[in-house]
Amino acid sequence: MTTHSGRHFLQIPGPTNVPDRVLRAIDSPTIDHRGPEFVELGLEVLGSIKTIFKTTNPVIIFPASGTGAWESALVNVLQSGDKVLMCETGQFSTLWSRLAERLGLDVEIIPGDWRRGADPVSIEERLTADTGHEIKAVCVVHNETSTGSLSRIKDVRDAIDRTGHPALYMVDTISSLASTDYRHDEWGVDVTVSGSQKGLMLPPGLSFVAVSDRAIKVSETGGMPRSYWRWDEMIEQNAKGVFPYTPATNLLYGLKEAVAMLHEEGLDNVFARHARHGEATRRAVSAWSLDNLCVNPDEYSPVLTTVMVPDGSDADVLRKLILEKFDMSLGTGLGKVAGKVFRIGHLGHFNDLTLAGTLSGVEMGLRMFGMDNAKGGVDAALEYLASQANA
Ligand SMILES: *Cc1c(COP(=O)(O)O)cnc(C)c1O
Repeated sequence: MTTHSGRHFLQIPGPTNVPDRVLRAIDSPTIDHRGPEFVELGLEVLGSIKTIFKTTNPVIIFPASGTGAWESALVNVLQSGDKVLMCETGQFSTLWSRLAERLGLDVEIIPGDWRRGADPVSIEERLTADTGHEIKAVCVVHNETSTGSLSRIKDVRDAIDRTGHPALYMVDTISSLASTDYRHDEWGVDVTVSGSQKGLMLPPGLSFVAVSDRAIKVSETGGMPRSYWRWDEMIEQNAKGVFPYTPATNLLYGLKEAVAMLHEEGLDNVFARHARHGEATRRAVSAWSLDNLCVNPDEYSPVLTTVMVPDGSDADVLRKLILEKFDMSLGTGLGKVAGKVFRIGHLGHFNDLTLAGTLSGVEMGLRMFGMDNAKGGVDAALEYLASQANA
């Protein structure tokens, strides 16, 4: 096995690099989750996480991956056979729709080409045509992590409102939360799903569901048979700072620290930082004469950039080369775009110099890969970052 000095560059779009402060917070004794000390922690994190979702309603925390939160969103408010409308933005929307199908839901998919976000116009047309209100929920992935496109969540809400259709609105923010603006209450989302290991800068293992009053009401009389994923017992016990079953105590220490870090920087500054790094990365990609998979500038992701490799090249060979030579992990192409793209994560605990190092590794890798013209990308990014630093 080759050994490397210095830190590994984990530049996949999640899990992301965990700040030392968060690691130190996690490295504390596990306490009695039914004792008084825990109650203080429980009330603190259950309260502060709401500021990240921008909601005053409950945010339920499960010891689970994001996939668990996907399931919880569906089983609490929908019944087998219910129709749900989903938008094919990429691999993650596809996996969520597969999960819905496995639960016995009748999934209707608005097809997509994996190069843009969910289309508010198509959603509006589909809901307008559904005069019998058979569609019970509309599900959208905010940041499609397999393609690097960001859906316009507020525009989709406005489209739903124009139709007056009563479908619940569900959004996956697993890779967007805490990296780009998101407003659960203001944007009228009924169920927001998220996870710990991306913009929240935590290790994998926590997932979140933010719920509207309407979603809670529907869950009280509806939903499927469910136990682990129930909302009612969680909401009831969380009000007292405790959980119905053992929570991931040490990850909650980490969550407390991560939320504190986000507020110290200021959420708007965190979002501006991600936007700046997205722009710098795209400038590097164009200097290399490569294409961004996302084709709609209004929907470019501030979280990651998905780069297409020329026809006939295998992006995974390039990724392997970069991993071996420079000890940097880049995201692989998923599903339909496997081998055709690689993904650069620029989210979470990340700064200008992390981006400079990341892009340097990519640029060297591209040249070693035989793309002799892959020059000037790092320069273009540095130029932009330096100009922004003076702004
Ligand atoms: C990572 C991710 C998921 C899956 O989360 P897991 O924690 O792997 O279950 C789902 N949706 C999006 C948008 C993601 O980025």
